[in-house]
Amino acid sequence: MANLLFDHLVAPLATRNSTFLMDSGGREIEGCSLYETAMSLASALTALGLKAGDRMAVQVDKTPEALALYCAAVAAGVVFLPLNTAYTAAEVDYFVSDAEASLLVADPAKAELLTEVARRNGARFETLDGKGEGSLREHARKQVGGFEPVARSGEDLAAILYTSGTTGQSKGAMLSHDNLLSNARVLAEEWRFQASDVLLHALPIFHTHGLFVATNVVMLSGGSMIFLPGFKTDEVIKWLPRATTMMGVPTFYTRLLDTPAFTGELVKHMRLFTSGSAPLLAETHQRFEERTGHRILERYGMTETNMNTSNPYDGDRRAGTVGRALPGVEVKITNPETGKDVPQGEPGVIEVRGPNVFRGYWRMPDKTREELRMDGFFITGDIGTLDTDGYVTIIGRQKDLIITGGYNVYPKEIELILDEQPGVLESAVVGVPHPDFGEAVIAVLVARPGQTVDAAVVAAAMGERLARFKQPKHIAIVADLPRNTMGKVQKNLLREQFTSLFA
Ligand code: AMP
Repeated sequence: MANLLFDHLVAPLATRNSTFLMDSGGREIEGCSLYETAMSLASALTALGLKAGDRMAVQVDKTPEALALYCAAVAAGVVFLPLNTAYTAAEVDYFVSDAEASLLVADPAKAELLTEVARRNGARFETLDGKGEGSLREHARKQVGGFEPVARSGEDLAAILYTSGTTGQSKGAMLSHDNLLSNARVLAEEWRFQASDVLLHALPIFHTHGLFVATNVVMLSGGSMIFLPGFKTDEVIKWLPRATTMMGVPTFYTRLLDTPAFTGELVKHMRLFTSGSAPLLAETHQRFEERTGHRILERYGMTETNMNTSNPYDGDRRAGTVGRALPGVEVKITNPETGKDVPQGEPGVIEVRGPNVFRGYWRMPDKTREELRMDGFFITGDIGTLDTDGYVTIIGRQKDLIITGGYNVYPKEIELILDEQPGVLESAVVGVPHPDFGEAVIAVLVARPGQTVDAAVVAAAMGERLARFKQPKHIAIVADLPRNTMGKVQKNLLREQFTSLFA
């Protein structure tokens, strides 16, 4: 019987004698070699007692062996549960306990704390370090003979990815073989991925972007990757000449643009740059085109849904939009109170349906019912608009909507104007408690390097451009905005920081 993801993503590596991965040290790993590592790890997982459907929590550095472990999980039918390397032992404890993981794999440097976490939750503990070595590798080396992949249907779970949980408890999104394969197929086709492609991979592999969008698409299309441990501008500039494509978050692009060595000449040969996971400013899109001649292709997705929309490969890549629904995916914009479609062009909650949409939250049937409708539409919690050509523009997260004196304020409208003000590099608008208005609009600004921002001048400009209820009641100037590893501004932290401003 078949194992959907294994057959399409992993099995083709077995016969590839050409380079599949290049690491930052210049080590070149052939497809067949990664396949062998994956199969020996799959044998080890089985020998350690893991069965199909069991969960394996993995908090390890990004290495080729870590990717082989993902392939091993696919082969053994084990549900892969990648964890952000920044999580503390207490956070890992929550995930291992909630998912009832049978095995926790982590860096040996964390063994002291995490062995205890594993023991408390009745899980095994094994190690894999930043060089791809550790106790799990030792087990794998002892395995003899090949590994027969475990049969899995399209509906079986391949992974559980926990949402970042900035507003509450982190939820485990259950992703099936069908969810992942269908999305990889659509993206590979839409973005024209070929065996000749070399993807510069500088994203983390504990998140949907780096793990599924990037690696699944490359594995499916038979391409190869330059597999960097993270984004370092110098390293990326060094490797770009050997790549044909790069997938990034917006901060990758702003950092490259801040570097004079990043020139149009350097990337003349490139075929595609994509961006997602956080909003790409139209200004960044334009500056990138001016510098390189390339129009970044922006797309939109999330942990629960894989990718939903994309700007076109051929055709109009519109700055500030996330493009149209991908083939097979339906997108609609609804009123958050009534759930009915809003009139064309008006803002509302983005809902999506398609084979990409997850199977629900792990052991949270109530949360699943709240967000995943009976008819299959998932309520994303993102606010956006849909234009007559089907292009989606994201305005912000529903939870970031500010209600001040009974009026709805979308932070993005104000942020776009703030970003135009003299000396302003970037901005974030949030709502904080206010005794009269319920919430008050405040703005947090970062100045351009070497420049200063005059809050009074900005306030006066806002007075001319915006209705009074939208004007920030306070303007703070800070050195940096707090961001998570995917480049998303953590507005929850800003709300906390300024929560007592009007108390
Ligand atoms: P995550 O589940 O961590 O991938 O986060 C998903 C969220 O990231 C989405 O619900 C959006 O709020 C945001 N996001 C992803 N792609 C984009 C994009 N291209 N533009 C704006 N926001 C995005």
